[in-house]
Formats: sequence, C-alpha cells, structure tokens
Amino acid sequence: MTTEAQILEALKKVHDPDLGKNIVELGFVKNLKIENETVSFTIELTTPACPVKDKLKEEAKQAVLAVDGIKNVNVEMTAKVRPTLSQQKTNLLPQVKNIIPVASGKGGVGKSTVSANLALVLVKMGAKVGLLDVDVYGPSIPLIMGVQKPPQVLEGNRIIPAEEHGVKIMSMGFFIHPNEAVVWRGPMLHKTVEQFLGNVEWGELDYLIVDLPPGTGDVQLSLCQIIPLTGAAIVSTPQDVALQVAEKAIVMFNKLNTPILGLIENMSGFVCRHCGEREEIFGAGGVREYSLRHEIPFLGAIPLDTRVRENSDSGEPTVIADPDSPSAQAFMLVAQNLAAQVSIRNMGGSTGGRPAPKEITQPEIGKVRILWKDGHESVYSGQQLRLACQCAVCVDEATGKQKLNPEKIQPNIFPVSTQPVGQYAIRFHWSDGHSTGIYAFDYLRALCPCEKCSSAEKVKTS
Ligand code: ADP
Repeated sequence: MTTEAQILEALKKVHDPDLGKNIVELGFVKNLKIENETVSFTIELTTPACPVKDKLKEEAKQAVLAVDGIKNVNVEMTAKVRPTLSQQKTNLLPQVKNIIPVASGKGGVGKSTVSANLALVLVKMGAKVGLLDVDVYGPSIPLIMGVQKPPQVLEGNRIIPAEEHGVKIMSMGFFIHPNEAVVWRGPMLHKTVEQFLGNVEWGELDYLIVDLPPGTGDVQLSLCQIIPLTGAAIVSTPQDVALQVAEKAIVMFNKLNTPILGLIENMSGFVCRHCGEREEIFGAGGVREYSLRHEIPFLGAIPLDTRVRENSDSGEPTVIADPDSPSAQAFMLVAQNLAAQVSIRNMGGSTGGRPAPKEITQPEIGKVRILWKDGHESVYSGQQLRLACQCAVCVDEATGKQKLNPEKIQPNIFPVSTQPVGQYAIRFHWSDGHSTGIYAFDYLRALCPCEKCSSAEKVKTS
C-alpha cells in the first residue's frame, strides 16, 4: 500500500523556481487522498497568475506517477494570494493584501495603459483586483477602462468604487472636470490619497494597483507614508533619457524603503501592422540592460502597437479587446512576473537587505532601544535622537545648518510615543512637545552609537 509519506517524498522533487523551495516545504500540497491506484491532491499556489503553474502541475503529476503502484493522478491547481507582511498589521485597509504602485519618471510612457492592462490580466486569472488612479495631472483610468457608472458616494463619505471588467476602480478623474485646471497642494493631495484609501469600500482585494502621477512628488511621498506598500513597478521606454528619469523614481522608492518589484519596458520596438516589419523607434532592450546592471527584476517588454492606443481610447484595453495579440500576451507575461515578485517578497519577508526595526522600547527613562530585524541592537539616548532631528523646524532646508539650539534640549528628554511612517521611518513625539521629525530607518541605523557601528563609520569616513 502506498502511503502519504511516500507521495510527499516524491512531491519534494518539484521545485518552485521563483521561491527556490519544493512545493511540500512551501506548504502548497493540500487535500492529499490515496484510493487504491489513484492519488488526488490540490496545489495551492501563492497567486493565480503564477507563471509556472502548468509546469508545476505537470511535474507534480509525473513525480507521483513515478511512485510504485500509482496509475492515476488528479491535481487541482488553486491559489491563495498571501498578504504583504507589514500590510497585515495596519488598520487602514486590512482586507487589501497587496498594494502595488505603478510609477514612471515622466509622463506619456504608458504608465496608465500598463496599470489598466495589468489589473485586467490579474482579474482574468482569478484574482480580486482594485485600480486606484491618483494621477492628479492626467487621471485617464476612467476613459481607458471605459467606466460607465461613476462611484457612489454614500452617507458618512463612504464611497462605493466604480467597477468595470471585474476591476474595482477609483480615480481623481471622477471628481475633476476634464477642462478644469486643478492646482493640487501637498496637504490637499495627502488628504485625497488618504480618503481614496480609507473611505472607499474596496472590500477584499488580492492586489490594489495604484496609478501614480509621473515623477517623484507629494503623492508618492503621501502614499508611502500612509500605508505599507508591497513594492513598486516602474514603467519606462527604452530610451536613455527616459531611463535616466526613471532612475530618479527608483532612488525615491529606495529612500522610502519601498522595494522595487521590477521594471517594465513599454513602447519597445514597433511592428508595422501592414508590412510586419519591426522598427526600434525608441530603441529596444534598454530597460532590460538597465535591470541587469542594477540587479532589479525585469518584468517584460510591451511593443509599441497602434492597437494598444486605439483600444485604450475606446475604453476596451488590449487584454480584453485583442486577447490573442502579441501585445496582450506581453501584458500577460508582465502581470505574471509581477505577481511572482509579489509572492517572492511575501514568502521571503525580505526588506531588500535594508535595516528595519523589529522592536522599539524604552529600557529606562531617557533611553531608546531598537532591536533590528537582523538582530543588531541600538541603544540611543533621547537627547542624541532629539538633537539629530532633521525636520524643517530643526534644520535650515536651504543651508543644512542646525537651527535647533542644543542648549535648549534637556539631557533627560524622552519620546512620549513613537509612530511608524509607512515602511521606512519612525516619527517620535518628544517630551518637549516636538513631533515633526521623521527618522528614516537608514538614518536611525547610521546614528547607532554602539562601538561596532561607530568604528565602522570612522573607517568609512577616514
Ligand atoms: P502615462 O500614464 O505614462 O502618462 P499613458 O498610459 O496615458 O501614459 O499613455 C500615453 C499614450 O501612449 C496614450 O495615448 C496611450 O494610448 C499610448 N500608449 C501607451 N502604451 C502604448 C503602447 N505600448 N503602444 C502604443 N501606444 C501606447
């Protein structure tokens, strides 16, 4: 008689190439049943958009068929999207598992087109998806998605998002007249982003795709501060100039401790629909090369295709209007690679090698202790941290000179409370009433006064 242990042993030969472990170790094998010569089980993946779904199914089948006495194998493939670890701990959107901003260095590179098509591929594959358009300067998602019915505003400012092609949609475009020039100021943007996250009835979502404005402005900062993000996808055309601008977005997300899930090359080579000849109008392959050089995942390339634009203009994005076209296939690959990167992050819990605190305590009055996720311990004096405040009240933004008078800071000053800021920083509320300083994790780690860190710093600067 074949035992469960034998079957599991056989299934250990099946590896998920993205997660680098076997499917038994990953806990993917469920509902295992053995009846005479027939084995049935379910493989529960981390995303319905898994790029190696068919491969894993076939390998699992063959592995079990190789066990003595087994003639038939039934494998059911399902998926349960895992949440971003830090997202689980927030109260703002507890039912939204992953928040993925789509960014670009400059406008017109196809960020909104890519966001819409990615959201649609993920829905087609069985995921629950929302699409939030916070591109204040050109909120085009309602047009691209062909939204027929605007969102409903209920009593108490609760908002039911629009829904089209199975995607829940919210956009600045529903609230701004197309010909109205709106000058958005930082605090107003912050509040709007907060409302679009907190007041909208998103329900349970596997992925919330966020179409950001181009560049590195207030909306990006607000989003990173308000809610932990799974990671950003960056869209660029292959040209050098566009890539250089995209790099600024990459640097910004790095500073905000938001991982980069990968780069997408859009408008990559043009295939003439009449003669079939391919021309590299904006070049091709530049983004892939950049990704390789900087060790950032490359999620794929989407060709410059007139139908992509026509489909967007008619409110039927390419993956819906022309699902078999090469462009739709390209969107599908990019979405699968993106979903795989999300799973890698969530299963590995990686912070991209950057320091992140595990625990913040006050062992005694006037002392702050941070235990870091890598096991390192930093014990600061409240006075040291208060004096290191970099906010605009304490430091002159133009000259970088300290405005704070050190003599005014009491040696026994202590934080009354600490508050996380997104996934990258901590805000301290000090006993002297000051609370405007935001301390990035990198900065706090660099301030560590322990002997090891101080001598490493000396070596670096000498
Ligand atoms: P962004 O959000 O970066 O400003 P959009 O998504 O609005 O850019 O795209 C800008 C224009 O380029 C739109 O007219 C869109 O239809 C078109 N476009 C985007 N991607 C492609 C593509 N791969 N092929 C052809 N046209 C595209």
